[in-house]
This record gives sequence, C-alpha cells and structure tokens, in this order.
Amino acid sequence: MSIDDKVSVERMLEPLASHPDTMLISDLRPTRFNQYPGQHTAKENLKVYVKAALRRESPLDHVLLHGPPGLGKTTLAHIIATELGVPFYSTSGPSIDKPGDLAGMLAGLEEGALLFIDEIHRLSIQVEEVLYSAMEDFVIDVLVGQGSSARSVRMPIAPFTLVGATTKLSNLSRPLISRFGIQERLNFYDSEALIEIINRSANILSVDLDTEGAEQIAKCSRGTPRISNRLLKRVWDFAEVEGDQFIDKKIALKALKRLEIDEFGLDRTDRAILSVVAERYNFGPVGIDALAVTIGEERSTIEEVYEPFLVHQGYLGRGQRGRFLTDKGKNYLSNICMS
Ligand code: ADP
Repeated sequence: MSIDDKVSVERMLEPLASHPDTMLISDLRPTRFNQYPGQHTAKENLKVYVKAALRRESPLDHVLLHGPPGLGKTTLAHIIATELGVPFYSTSGPSIDKPGDLAGMLAGLEEGALLFIDEIHRLSIQVEEVLYSAMEDFVIDVLVGQGSSARSVRMPIAPFTLVGATTKLSNLSRPLISRFGIQERLNFYDSEALIEIINRSANILSVDLDTEGAEQIAKCSRGTPRISNRLLKRVWDFAEVEGDQFIDKKIALKALKRLEIDEFGLDRTDRAILSVVAERYNFGPVGIDALAVTIGEERSTIEEVYEPFLVHQGYLGRGQRGRFLTDKGKNYLSNICMS
C-alpha cells in the first residue's frame, strides 16, 4: 500500500460525527447504556459482555447487530465504544470497493479500537474474505510485488472489535456470521420506550410537548426511534408555524395528517403496498419483485423498510409463494375505503 492509499483509507475511517449532515442526529444519539431505552435483552447482554471485557482487559468479542433500519444499531455501536473507552471508526459495506481498502483500514486500527461496518451484508465476497482471518486470528494477507513475482504475505494486526450491522441477516454468509461471538437482534420498540425517547429528544431540542402529544407521535412511529425523532421535528415545525409553539395531541394529529401518516403509523407507501396486493394481485400471494415493480419502489426498500413493520403488525403475511394480505390488512383497507 502506498502513502496515498493509506491517506484515502484513513479518510474512509473518519469518525461519524465529523460529517455535517449527521450532526443533528448524532446530537440526539444516546452515548451511554443508561440513556438508551428499550431493547432490554440486547442491552443487558451487551452490558455484561462489555463489563467482562473491561475486567479482563481484553478486546470485546466481535458483535453483530441485526434488525430493521432506525432501531439503534449504529447508536449501540457508539455506546459500546464509549463504555469500553476505545476509539470508534465507522464505514459501510457498499463503500469498501476492494479487499486492499479493508486490509488498509484494519492495518491502521490501534489496539482495542472498535470498527463499525454498517450494512455489512453489502460487502463483496472478496472483501468479506479479508475479514475471516482478521476477525479470527488478527492477521491479514497482503499481496506483495507485481505480476508473476507477486506473493501473499501474512501480516499481524492489532486486536480490535468489529461491530457489524445489518438489516438483512439472511444475506450474510454463514462463515461471516459464525465469526461474530456476540449476535443480538433489535426489535421494534413499544410505546413506553418510544415516549421516553421522544421526551429525551424534545428536552435536547428544547421543544415543549405534553404527554398526549408524545403519545400520539409514539403511536405513529412504527416502533422505530429514527421515525419518532423525525416526526417530532416535523410536528415541531407545525407547532411553530401553525400552532402555539407547543406540541399537544391536536397539533400532532394535524401535522401527522399533513404528512399522510394515519393513526396506525402507516404512510402512503404502506397503503400502496396493501392496495396493490389486494387489487392487482387478488390479495396475493405475490412475489417481491412483481410487487416492487408495480409500486415503483426498490425491492430492498420494500423488504428492509416497509415489509418488516407490515408483517410485524399483522397486515401482511409472508409465505413460500409470496406476500399476501391478512384479515387485518383486508379490514384496514375496507375501513379506509369507507372513511
Ligand atoms: P440504525 O443504525 O439501526 O439504522 P440508528 O442507531 O442510526 O439506527 O438510530 C436512528 C436514530 O434513532 C438516531 O438518531 C438515534 O439517536 C435514535 N435512537 C435509536 N435507538 C435509540 C434509543 N434506544 N434511544 C434513543 N434514541 C435512539
């Protein structure tokens, strides 16, 4: 690797908070376990593993966090680094093009550092293979020389902790999954945890809101903190311009209606998915590709963003032959047709 390569690799490893467009989000991110409501099982387990690693003065085992987007995987990775007191580096699967890029990143990590790879299911197989020996034995294979004299040399790297995050566990290869000693699934949040998150964010942003206002936003957040924070900011805009600079149930309902989000938290795309399955595919089953083409959305967006919530809430079913509308989904559609 030349000096220039090393500089560009170091750029790819910039700490996340230095990106301007993530500043506000990072302001709302909890930084310690005790500021992170919900995800009881994952959080309590991680607390134990972190404590054990600190006592043994050894790096934490590699951690795989999986679950739908916006549930707090990146936030947890930050918290783990803070609780361990180690440097945090962040990158993502799609941004690592070549095996050499990843090898360079790994070679540049200081001992004990935490490397977070978001969307780890999008690493190419060639890049992924670099991780196998790095995770297991803290060594990487580097190609030295060119042409016929090129040969592979094993190079030790400093022990580190990899935290991988994925919305699609099924797209991860078995060899990679098996190298994560710690695997935790994040689930949709209940109302109580979301209200706590909304109140905390309102406090940080100095937004005035009452209990019913927070409850209404939580109800429409699809069990997802990222959506809670986004809705809080949009409802705040309506309260500022068309209300009394105060969020109560009335202004929350008004804003959510303008955002085309209904009382169950479903938005225009959710409704389009349910309607298309009902009307174009006779309530299903319909394959994901046909559904994506008819709606005009990326397959991955439907699979990773919309479908998990619709299935979790029981509007949509998923069988071997495709997606189908459940009785709850049918009732929902007949109620919106009547209203
Ligand atoms: P993911 O990586 O799973 O897509 P993030 O960690 O980026 O999700 O979280 C999205 C947003 O939701 C962030 O702004 C974060 O502050 C907030 N958030 C997620 N989980 C929690 C939580 N348990 N408590 C407070 N805020 C949270």
